Amino acid sequence: MMDDWTTLGYLASAVLFILGLKRLSRPRTAVRGNQFGATGMLIAIVVTLTDNAILGFEWIIAGLVLGTAVGAVLAVRVQMTAMPELVALFNGFGGGASVLVAAASYIEAADLATDTPRLSAAAGLAALIGAVTFTGSLIAFGKLRESLKWSGFKGMQVVSVVGVAAAVVFGVLMVADAGNALWIWLMVAVAAGLGVLVVSPIGGADMPVVIALLNSLSGMAAVAAGFVLDNSLLIIAGSLVGASGLILTQIMCVAMNRSLLAVMFSPAPSGAGGPSADDVYAGKVRSTSADDVAMLLEAAERVAIVPGYGLAVAQAQHAVRDLARRLEDRGTQVVFGIHPVAGRMPGHMNVLLAEAEIGYEQLVEMDDINPTFEQTDVTIVLGANDVVNPIARTDPSSPIAGMPILDVDKSGVVVVIKRSLSPGFAGIPNPLFAADNSMMLFGDGREAVVSITKALQQI
Ligand code: NDP
Repeated sequence: MMDDWTTLGYLASAVLFILGLKRLSRPRTAVRGNQFGATGMLIAIVVTLTDNAILGFEWIIAGLVLGTAVGAVLAVRVQMTAMPELVALFNGFGGGASVLVAAASYIEAADLATDTPRLSAAAGLAALIGAVTFTGSLIAFGKLRESLKWSGFKGMQVVSVVGVAAAVVFGVLMVADAGNALWIWLMVAVAAGLGVLVVSPIGGADMPVVIALLNSLSGMAAVAAGFVLDNSLLIIAGSLVGASGLILTQIMCVAMNRSLLAVMFSPAPSGAGGPSADDVYAGKVRSTSADDVAMLLEAAERVAIVPGYGLAVAQAQHAVRDLARRLEDRGTQVVFGIHPVAGRMPGHMNVLLAEAEIGYEQLVEMDDINPTFEQTDVTIVLGANDVVNPIARTDPSSPIAGMPILDVDKSGVVVVIKRSLSPGFAGIPNPLFAADNSMMLFGDGREAVVSITKALQQI
Protein backbone atom coordinates (compact mmCIF):
# COMPACT_ATOMS: atom_id res chain seq x y z
CA MET A 1 0.00 0.00 0.00
CA MET A 2 2.79 2.39 1.04
CA ASP A 3 4.60 1.54 -2.19
CA ASP A 4 1.61 2.62 -4.23
CA TRP A 5 1.45 5.97 -2.46
CA THR A 6 5.19 6.42 -2.92
CA THR A 7 4.96 5.64 -6.61
CA LEU A 8 2.01 7.99 -7.00
CA GLY A 9 3.80 10.77 -5.08
CA TYR A 10 6.94 10.36 -7.18
CA LEU A 11 4.89 10.36 -10.37
CA ALA A 12 3.18 13.61 -9.31
CA SER A 13 6.58 15.17 -8.50
CA ALA A 14 8.06 14.09 -11.84
CA VAL A 15 5.10 15.53 -13.76
CA LEU A 16 5.37 18.81 -11.79
CA PHE A 17 9.13 19.02 -12.50
CA ILE A 18 8.56 18.56 -16.24
CA LEU A 19 5.65 21.04 -16.39
CA GLY A 20 7.72 23.47 -14.29
CA LEU A 21 10.69 23.22 -16.64
CA LYS A 22 8.44 23.81 -19.65
CA ARG A 23 7.05 26.97 -18.04
CA LEU A 24 10.52 28.17 -17.04
CA SER A 25 11.43 28.44 -20.73
CA ARG A 26 9.24 31.57 -21.16
CA PRO A 27 9.62 34.70 -19.01
CA ARG A 28 5.85 35.17 -18.79
CA THR A 29 5.25 31.71 -17.31
CA ALA A 30 8.54 31.39 -15.38
CA VAL A 31 7.12 32.30 -11.94
CA ARG A 32 4.43 29.63 -12.31
CA GLY A 33 7.12 27.18 -13.47
CA ASN A 34 9.12 27.88 -10.33
CA GLN A 35 6.04 27.23 -8.18
CA PHE A 36 5.41 23.92 -9.98
CA GLY A 37 9.02 22.84 -9.38
CA ALA A 38 8.93 23.83 -5.69
CA THR A 39 5.65 21.95 -5.15
CA GLY A 40 7.09 18.88 -6.88
CA MET A 41 10.13 19.07 -4.59
CA LEU A 42 7.95 19.41 -1.48
CA ILE A 43 5.95 16.31 -2.45
CA ALA A 44 9.20 14.44 -3.19
CA ILE A 45 10.67 15.30 0.22
CA VAL A 46 7.50 14.39 2.16
CA VAL A 47 7.07 11.09 0.29
CA THR A 48 10.73 10.15 0.72
CA LEU A 49 10.74 10.99 4.44
CA THR A 50 7.59 9.03 5.17
CA ASP A 51 8.61 6.06 3.05
CA ASN A 52 12.27 5.70 3.66
CA ALA A 53 13.33 7.09 7.02
CA ILE A 54 15.79 4.29 7.56
CA LEU A 55 18.33 6.54 9.26
CA GLY A 56 15.95 7.74 11.91
CA PHE A 57 14.57 11.26 11.91
CA GLU A 58 17.24 12.67 14.24
CA TRP A 59 19.86 12.45 11.45
CA ILE A 60 17.52 13.92 8.88
CA ILE A 61 16.60 16.80 11.18
CA ALA A 62 20.28 17.40 11.97
CA GLY A 63 21.05 17.55 8.23
CA LEU A 64 18.09 19.88 7.62
CA VAL A 65 19.13 22.24 10.43
CA LEU A 66 22.76 22.34 9.27
CA GLY A 67 21.87 22.80 5.59
CA THR A 68 19.23 25.43 6.35
CA ALA A 69 21.63 27.36 8.58
CA VAL A 70 24.38 27.42 5.93
CA GLY A 71 21.87 28.23 3.15
CA ALA A 72 20.19 31.00 5.15
CA VAL A 73 23.50 32.68 6.04
CA LEU A 74 24.67 32.52 2.41
CA ALA A 75 21.33 33.78 1.06
CA VAL A 76 21.19 36.72 3.45
CA ARG A 77 24.83 37.75 3.09
CA VAL A 78 25.34 37.28 -0.64
CA GLN A 79 25.44 40.43 -2.76
CA MET A 80 23.29 40.33 -5.90
CA THR A 81 26.48 40.60 -7.95
CA ALA A 82 27.89 37.48 -6.27
CA MET A 83 24.87 35.37 -7.27
CA PRO A 84 26.70 33.64 -10.18
CA GLU A 85 29.48 32.49 -7.82
CA LEU A 86 26.90 31.17 -5.39
CA VAL A 87 25.16 29.25 -8.18
CA ALA A 88 28.54 27.73 -9.12
CA LEU A 89 29.05 26.73 -5.49
CA PHE A 90 25.58 25.14 -5.32
CA ASN A 91 26.43 23.01 -8.38
CA GLY A 92 29.51 21.88 -6.49
CA PHE A 93 27.51 21.03 -3.36
CA GLY A 94 25.18 18.90 -5.53
CA GLY A 95 28.19 16.95 -6.80
CA GLY A 96 29.63 16.68 -3.27
CA ALA A 97 26.32 15.31 -1.93
CA SER A 98 26.31 12.60 -4.64
CA VAL A 99 29.85 11.61 -3.60
CA LEU A 100 28.78 11.22 0.04
CA VAL A 101 25.68 9.19 -0.91
CA ALA A 102 27.76 6.93 -3.16
CA ALA A 103 30.52 6.39 -0.58
CA ALA A 104 28.09 5.73 2.29
CA SER A 105 26.03 3.24 0.25
CA TYR A 106 29.10 1.48 -1.16
CA ILE A 107 30.72 1.06 2.27
CA GLU A 108 27.44 -0.01 3.90
CA ALA A 109 26.76 -2.57 1.18
CA ALA A 110 30.27 -3.93 1.61
CA ASP A 111 29.78 -4.22 5.42
CA LEU A 112 26.40 -5.93 5.08
CA ALA A 113 27.59 -8.03 2.12
CA THR A 114 24.63 -6.72 0.09
CA ASP A 115 26.77 -5.23 -2.68
CA THR A 116 25.95 -5.99 -6.29
CA PRO A 117 27.93 -5.13 -9.42
CA ARG A 118 25.14 -2.70 -10.39
CA LEU A 119 25.37 -0.82 -7.07
CA SER A 120 29.18 -0.72 -7.21
CA ALA A 121 29.19 0.56 -10.80
CA ALA A 122 26.60 3.24 -9.98
CA ALA A 123 28.55 4.27 -6.86
CA GLY A 124 31.72 4.51 -8.95
CA LEU A 125 30.03 6.78 -11.49
CA ALA A 126 28.43 8.95 -8.78
CA ALA A 127 31.81 9.32 -7.02
CA LEU A 128 33.59 10.13 -10.29
CA ILE A 129 31.14 12.67 -11.70
CA GLY A 130 30.28 14.10 -8.26
CA ALA A 131 33.91 14.73 -7.26
CA VAL A 132 34.79 16.26 -10.65
CA THR A 133 31.77 18.55 -10.27
CA PHE A 134 32.68 19.46 -6.69
CA THR A 135 36.28 20.56 -7.25
CA GLY A 136 35.57 21.91 -10.75
CA SER A 137 32.84 24.13 -9.27
CA LEU A 138 35.17 25.38 -6.53
CA ILE A 139 37.67 26.43 -9.20
CA ALA A 140 34.85 28.06 -11.22
CA PHE A 141 33.76 29.87 -8.03
CA GLY A 142 37.27 31.33 -7.61
CA LYS A 143 37.44 32.36 -11.28
CA LEU A 144 34.04 34.05 -11.20
CA ARG A 145 35.11 35.98 -8.08
CA GLU A 146 38.21 36.89 -10.10
CA SER A 147 40.29 35.83 -7.07
CA LEU A 148 41.77 32.77 -8.80
CA LYS A 149 43.99 33.41 -11.80
CA TRP A 150 45.85 30.07 -11.82
CA SER A 151 45.54 28.33 -15.18
CA GLY A 152 47.57 25.20 -14.48
CA PHE A 153 51.06 24.04 -15.40
CA LYS A 154 52.92 22.68 -18.40
CA GLY A 155 52.12 19.04 -19.18
CA MET A 156 48.79 19.24 -17.39
CA GLN A 157 46.94 17.49 -20.20
CA VAL A 158 49.21 14.46 -19.87
CA VAL A 159 48.51 14.31 -16.13
CA SER A 160 44.77 14.55 -16.91
CA VAL A 161 44.97 11.58 -19.31
CA VAL A 162 46.78 9.56 -16.62
CA GLY A 163 44.06 10.62 -14.16
CA VAL A 164 41.29 9.43 -16.50
CA ALA A 165 43.07 6.07 -16.92
CA ALA A 166 43.43 5.74 -13.12
CA ALA A 167 39.72 6.52 -12.64
CA VAL A 168 38.81 3.74 -15.10
CA VAL A 169 41.06 1.28 -13.19
CA PHE A 170 39.58 2.25 -9.79
CA GLY A 171 36.06 1.98 -11.26
CA VAL A 172 36.77 -1.58 -12.42
CA LEU A 173 38.31 -2.45 -9.04
CA MET A 174 35.24 -1.05 -7.24
CA VAL A 175 33.14 -3.67 -9.05
CA ALA A 176 35.65 -6.54 -9.04
CA ASP A 177 36.79 -6.11 -5.41
CA ALA A 178 33.60 -4.61 -4.00
CA GLY A 179 34.26 -5.20 -0.30
CA ASN A 180 37.23 -2.83 -0.28
CA ALA A 181 36.39 0.78 0.67
CA LEU A 182 39.86 1.92 -0.42
CA TRP A 183 38.83 1.88 -4.11
CA ILE A 184 36.03 4.40 -3.73
CA TRP A 185 38.24 6.82 -1.80
CA LEU A 186 40.95 6.51 -4.45
CA MET A 187 38.30 7.13 -7.09
CA VAL A 188 37.13 10.26 -5.22
CA ALA A 189 40.72 11.53 -4.85
CA VAL A 190 41.54 11.05 -8.56
CA ALA A 191 38.22 12.56 -9.69
CA ALA A 192 38.72 15.56 -7.38
CA GLY A 193 42.13 16.13 -8.99
CA LEU A 194 40.60 15.80 -12.47
CA GLY A 195 38.02 18.50 -11.65
CA VAL A 196 40.86 20.90 -10.79
CA LEU A 197 42.95 19.94 -13.85
CA VAL A 198 40.10 20.22 -16.36
CA VAL A 199 38.57 23.51 -15.17
CA SER A 200 41.75 25.44 -14.24
CA PRO A 201 43.00 26.18 -17.78
CA ILE A 202 39.57 27.34 -18.92
CA GLY A 203 38.96 31.00 -18.34
CA GLY A 204 38.10 34.30 -19.88
CA ALA A 205 35.19 34.21 -22.22
CA ASP A 206 34.85 30.38 -22.12
CA MET A 207 33.59 30.43 -18.52
CA PRO A 208 29.85 30.47 -19.41
CA VAL A 209 30.29 27.10 -21.15
CA VAL A 210 32.00 25.62 -18.09
CA ILE A 211 29.31 26.89 -15.71
CA ALA A 212 26.58 25.29 -17.85
CA LEU A 213 28.56 22.05 -18.13
CA LEU A 214 29.14 21.81 -14.36
CA ASN A 215 25.43 22.37 -13.86
CA SER A 216 24.74 19.46 -16.19
CA LEU A 217 27.34 17.26 -14.45
CA SER A 218 25.72 17.87 -11.05
CA GLY A 219 22.50 16.46 -12.57
CA MET A 220 24.32 13.44 -13.99
CA ALA A 221 25.94 12.76 -10.59
CA ALA A 222 22.43 12.83 -9.08
CA VAL A 223 21.27 10.28 -11.69
CA ALA A 224 24.10 7.93 -10.66
CA ALA A 225 23.24 8.51 -6.96
CA GLY A 226 19.62 7.70 -7.87
CA PHE A 227 20.75 4.30 -9.20
CA VAL A 228 22.80 3.76 -6.02
CA LEU A 229 19.75 4.43 -3.82
CA ASP A 230 17.35 2.81 -6.29
CA ASN A 231 15.30 6.01 -6.19
CA SER A 232 13.40 6.59 -9.43
CA LEU A 233 12.59 10.24 -8.66
CA LEU A 234 16.24 11.14 -8.11
CA ILE A 235 17.02 9.52 -11.47
CA ILE A 236 14.27 11.54 -13.19
CA ALA A 237 15.15 14.86 -11.49
CA GLY A 238 18.88 14.33 -12.14
CA SER A 239 18.17 13.52 -15.81
CA LEU A 240 16.18 16.74 -16.18
CA VAL A 241 19.02 18.81 -14.69
CA GLY A 242 21.62 16.90 -16.72
CA ALA A 243 19.73 17.26 -20.01
CA SER A 244 18.77 20.91 -19.55
CA GLY A 245 22.36 21.69 -18.51
CA LEU A 246 23.61 20.04 -21.70
CA ILE A 247 21.19 22.07 -23.81
CA LEU A 248 22.41 25.24 -22.07
CA THR A 249 26.02 24.15 -22.66
CA GLN A 250 25.24 23.83 -26.36
CA ILE A 251 23.58 27.27 -26.42
CA MET A 252 26.63 28.80 -24.69
CA CYS A 253 28.99 27.06 -27.17
CA VAL A 254 27.02 28.56 -30.07
CA ALA A 255 27.11 31.96 -28.32
CA MET A 256 30.90 31.73 -28.07
CA ASN A 257 31.27 30.13 -31.51
CA ARG A 258 33.39 27.35 -29.91
CA SER A 259 32.85 23.61 -29.78
CA LEU A 260 32.72 21.92 -26.38
CA LEU A 261 35.83 19.91 -27.23
CA ALA A 262 37.70 23.10 -28.11
CA VAL A 263 36.67 24.72 -24.82
CA MET A 264 37.77 21.66 -22.81
CA PHE A 265 40.95 20.72 -24.59
CA SER A 266 42.25 23.81 -26.35
CA PRO A 267 41.67 26.75 -24.02
CA ALA A 268 41.31 30.14 -25.68
CA PRO A 269 44.52 32.20 -25.95
CA SER A 270 45.25 34.44 -22.96
CA GLY A 271 45.61 37.50 -25.17
CA ALA A 272 48.97 38.24 -23.57
CA GLY A 273 50.56 39.16 -26.91
CA GLY A 274 47.71 41.48 -27.94
CA PRO A 275 47.80 45.28 -28.04
CA SER A 276 48.30 47.07 -24.70
CA ALA A 277 45.76 49.48 -23.27
CA ASP A 278 48.11 52.37 -24.10
CA ASP A 279 48.33 51.29 -27.76
CA VAL A 280 44.56 51.19 -28.01
CA TYR A 281 43.51 54.22 -25.99
CA ALA A 282 46.34 56.80 -25.80
CA GLY A 283 45.04 60.17 -27.00
CA LYS A 284 42.03 58.62 -28.75
CA VAL A 285 39.35 58.42 -26.05
CA ARG A 286 36.71 61.16 -25.92
CA SER A 287 34.76 61.65 -22.72
CA THR A 288 31.36 63.26 -22.51
CA SER A 289 28.86 64.52 -19.92
CA ALA A 290 25.31 63.57 -18.96
CA ASP A 291 24.05 66.87 -20.42
CA ASP A 292 25.66 66.18 -23.80
CA VAL A 293 24.28 62.64 -23.87
CA ALA A 294 20.81 63.99 -23.07
CA MET A 295 21.08 66.35 -26.09
CA LEU A 296 22.05 63.45 -28.31
CA LEU A 297 19.15 61.35 -27.07
CA GLU A 298 16.74 64.22 -27.48
CA ALA A 299 17.48 64.29 -31.20
CA ALA A 300 17.49 60.48 -31.68
CA GLU A 301 14.63 58.56 -33.25
CA ARG A 302 15.92 55.10 -32.37
CA VAL A 303 17.99 54.28 -29.29
CA ALA A 304 19.49 50.91 -28.34
CA ILE A 305 20.63 50.13 -24.80
CA VAL A 306 23.17 47.33 -24.40
CA PRO A 307 23.60 46.20 -20.79
CA GLY A 308 26.47 44.12 -19.42
CA TYR A 309 27.90 42.99 -16.11
CA GLY A 310 28.28 46.63 -14.95
CA LEU A 311 24.46 46.94 -14.97
CA ALA A 312 24.40 44.24 -12.29
CA VAL A 313 27.20 45.86 -10.28
CA ALA A 314 25.57 49.29 -10.41
CA GLN A 315 22.06 47.86 -9.94
CA ALA A 316 21.05 50.28 -12.67
CA GLN A 317 18.04 48.34 -13.98
CA HIS A 318 15.39 50.62 -12.44
CA ALA A 319 17.23 53.78 -13.49
CA VAL A 320 17.53 52.53 -17.07
CA ARG A 321 13.83 51.66 -17.16
CA ASP A 322 13.01 55.25 -16.12
CA LEU A 323 15.28 56.59 -18.87
CA ALA A 324 13.70 54.30 -21.48
CA ARG A 325 10.18 55.37 -20.44
CA ARG A 326 11.08 59.05 -20.60
CA LEU A 327 12.48 58.59 -24.11
CA GLU A 328 9.42 56.64 -25.21
CA ASP A 329 7.17 59.38 -23.86
CA ARG A 330 8.99 61.70 -26.26
CA GLY A 331 8.28 59.33 -29.16
CA THR A 332 11.75 57.72 -29.34
CA GLN A 333 11.93 54.01 -30.12
CA VAL A 334 13.95 52.19 -27.41
CA VAL A 335 15.19 48.60 -27.55
CA PHE A 336 17.55 46.58 -25.35
CA GLY A 337 20.20 44.41 -27.04
CA ILE A 338 20.86 41.19 -25.13
CA HIS A 339 24.03 39.16 -25.64
CA PRO A 340 23.70 35.53 -24.49
CA VAL A 341 26.84 35.70 -22.29
CA ALA A 342 26.44 39.25 -20.96
CA GLY A 343 26.84 39.38 -17.18
CA ARG A 344 28.11 36.44 -15.18
CA MET A 345 25.39 33.82 -15.61
CA PRO A 346 23.12 32.71 -18.43
CA GLY A 347 20.08 34.97 -18.63
CA HIS A 348 21.63 37.48 -16.18
CA MET A 349 20.49 40.58 -18.11
CA ASN A 350 16.99 39.20 -18.78
CA VAL A 351 16.50 38.58 -15.05
CA LEU A 352 17.66 42.08 -14.03
CA LEU A 353 15.62 43.88 -16.69
CA ALA A 354 12.54 41.76 -15.93
CA GLU A 355 12.95 42.73 -12.24
CA ALA A 356 12.59 46.37 -13.34
CA GLU A 357 9.48 45.40 -15.35
CA ILE A 358 10.98 46.23 -18.71
CA GLY A 359 8.70 44.60 -21.31
CA TYR A 360 9.99 41.32 -22.79
CA GLU A 361 9.15 42.61 -26.26
CA GLN A 362 11.78 45.31 -25.76
CA LEU A 363 14.56 42.76 -25.13
CA VAL A 364 16.04 41.87 -28.51
CA GLU A 365 18.42 38.92 -28.91
CA MET A 366 21.81 39.44 -30.56
CA ASP A 367 20.97 37.88 -33.95
CA ASP A 368 17.86 40.04 -34.27
CA ILE A 369 19.32 43.35 -33.14
CA ASN A 370 22.63 43.19 -35.01
CA PRO A 371 21.20 43.97 -38.47
CA THR A 372 19.43 47.03 -36.99
CA PHE A 373 22.42 48.86 -35.49
CA GLU A 374 23.08 50.71 -38.73
CA GLN A 375 19.67 52.32 -38.41
CA THR A 376 20.18 53.15 -34.74
CA ASP A 377 20.99 56.77 -33.94
CA VAL A 378 22.43 56.29 -30.44
CA THR A 379 23.52 53.14 -28.65
CA ILE A 380 24.13 53.31 -24.91
CA VAL A 381 26.54 50.62 -23.74
CA LEU A 382 25.81 50.31 -20.03
CA GLY A 383 28.52 48.41 -18.14
CA ALA A 384 29.16 46.02 -21.05
CA ASN A 385 32.65 45.43 -22.38
CA ASP A 386 33.62 41.99 -23.79
CA VAL A 387 30.25 41.48 -25.50
CA VAL A 388 30.76 44.65 -27.59
CA ASN A 389 34.51 44.31 -28.18
CA PRO A 390 35.24 44.45 -31.96
CA ILE A 391 38.59 42.71 -31.34
CA ALA A 392 36.58 39.47 -31.38
CA ARG A 393 36.19 39.98 -35.14
CA THR A 394 39.75 41.01 -35.94
CA ASP A 395 42.35 39.47 -33.60
CA PRO A 396 42.65 35.67 -33.77
CA SER A 397 45.01 35.69 -30.77
CA SER A 398 42.51 37.31 -28.44
CA PRO A 399 40.68 35.25 -25.79
CA ILE A 400 37.35 36.20 -27.36
CA ALA A 401 38.45 35.56 -30.99
CA GLY A 402 35.49 34.45 -33.09
CA MET A 403 32.89 35.20 -30.41
CA PRO A 404 29.88 36.88 -32.06
CA ILE A 405 29.46 40.34 -30.51
CA LEU A 406 26.78 42.99 -30.50
CA ASP A 407 27.74 45.22 -33.45
CA VAL A 408 27.17 48.48 -31.56
CA ASP A 409 30.06 50.15 -33.40
CA LYS A 410 27.84 50.24 -36.49
CA SER A 411 25.34 52.63 -34.90
CA GLY A 412 25.45 56.41 -35.44
CA VAL A 413 26.87 57.30 -32.01
CA VAL A 414 27.96 55.01 -29.19
CA VAL A 415 27.90 56.22 -25.58
CA VAL A 416 29.79 53.89 -23.25
CA ILE A 417 28.95 54.21 -19.57
CA LYS A 418 31.52 52.69 -17.19
CA ARG A 419 33.76 53.87 -14.38
CA SER A 420 37.14 53.70 -16.09
CA LEU A 421 38.95 52.12 -19.04
CA SER A 422 39.43 48.87 -17.07
CA PRO A 423 38.99 45.68 -19.08
CA GLY A 424 36.06 43.27 -18.74
CA PHE A 425 36.15 39.62 -17.68
CA ALA A 426 38.39 38.56 -20.59
CA GLY A 427 41.04 41.08 -19.46
CA ILE A 428 41.69 42.79 -22.82
CA PRO A 429 41.44 46.41 -24.05
CA ASN A 430 38.45 47.41 -26.15
CA PRO A 431 39.01 49.51 -29.32
CA LEU A 432 35.33 50.47 -29.27
CA PHE A 433 36.13 53.00 -26.52
CA ALA A 434 38.54 54.79 -28.87
CA ALA A 435 36.40 54.60 -32.03
CA ASP A 436 35.54 57.81 -33.90
CA ASN A 437 31.82 57.46 -33.22
CA SER A 438 32.23 56.55 -29.51
CA MET A 439 32.30 58.65 -26.37
CA MET A 440 32.80 57.62 -22.79
CA LEU A 441 30.60 58.74 -19.93
CA PHE A 442 32.75 57.81 -16.96
CA GLY A 443 30.97 56.99 -13.71
CA ASP A 444 28.81 54.49 -11.89
CA GLY A 445 26.16 53.07 -14.22
CA ARG A 446 23.16 53.96 -12.06
CA GLU A 447 24.31 57.47 -11.20
CA ALA A 448 25.18 58.22 -14.84
CA VAL A 449 21.77 57.07 -16.11
CA VAL A 450 19.94 59.04 -13.40
CA SER A 451 21.92 62.16 -14.41
CA ILE A 452 21.05 61.68 -18.09
CA THR A 453 17.36 61.28 -17.25
CA LYS A 454 17.43 64.45 -15.14
CA ALA A 455 19.21 66.36 -17.89
CA LEU A 456 16.64 65.11 -20.42
CA GLN A 457 13.82 66.45 -18.24
CA GLN A 458 15.33 69.89 -18.40
CA ILE A 459 15.52 70.07 -22.18
P1 NDP B 1 32.50 42.53 -18.85
O1 NDP B 1 32.94 41.72 -17.71
O2 NDP B 1 33.21 42.34 -20.15
O3 NDP B 1 32.60 44.09 -18.51
C1 NDP B 1 31.86 44.64 -17.49
C2 NDP B 1 32.22 46.11 -17.38
O4 NDP B 1 31.34 46.68 -16.42
C3 NDP B 1 33.63 46.35 -16.87
O5 NDP B 1 34.49 46.71 -17.92
C4 NDP B 1 33.47 47.43 -15.80
O6 NDP B 1 34.28 48.56 -16.14
C5 NDP B 1 32.00 47.81 -15.90
N1 NDP B 1 31.44 48.10 -14.57
C6 NDP B 1 31.63 47.46 -13.41
N2 NDP B 1 30.99 48.06 -12.42
C7 NDP B 1 30.34 49.11 -12.97
C8 NDP B 1 29.49 50.13 -12.45
N3 NDP B 1 29.16 50.20 -11.14
N4 NDP B 1 29.00 51.04 -13.30
C9 NDP B 1 29.30 51.01 -14.61
N5 NDP B 1 30.12 50.06 -15.15
C10 NDP B 1 30.61 49.15 -14.34
O7 NDP B 1 30.94 42.30 -19.02
P2 NDP B 1 30.08 41.83 -20.28
O8 NDP B 1 28.70 41.66 -19.75
O9 NDP B 1 30.32 42.72 -21.45
O10 NDP B 1 30.69 40.41 -20.68
C11 NDP B 1 30.54 39.27 -19.86
C12 NDP B 1 31.85 38.57 -19.70
O11 NDP B 1 31.76 37.63 -18.62
C13 NDP B 1 32.21 37.77 -20.94
O12 NDP B 1 33.61 37.73 -21.11
C14 NDP B 1 31.68 36.38 -20.59
O13 NDP B 1 32.30 35.36 -21.32
C15 NDP B 1 32.03 36.32 -19.11
N6 NDP B 1 31.22 35.37 -18.35
C16 NDP B 1 29.89 35.26 -18.57
C17 NDP B 1 29.15 34.32 -17.89
C18 NDP B 1 27.70 34.14 -18.23
O14 NDP B 1 27.18 33.04 -18.01
N7 NDP B 1 27.05 35.16 -18.75
C19 NDP B 1 29.76 33.45 -16.87
C20 NDP B 1 31.18 33.70 -16.68
C21 NDP B 1 31.87 34.62 -17.40
P3 NDP B 1 34.73 49.61 -15.01
O15 NDP B 1 35.39 48.83 -13.94
O16 NDP B 1 35.63 50.54 -15.75
O17 NDP B 1 33.50 50.31 -14.52
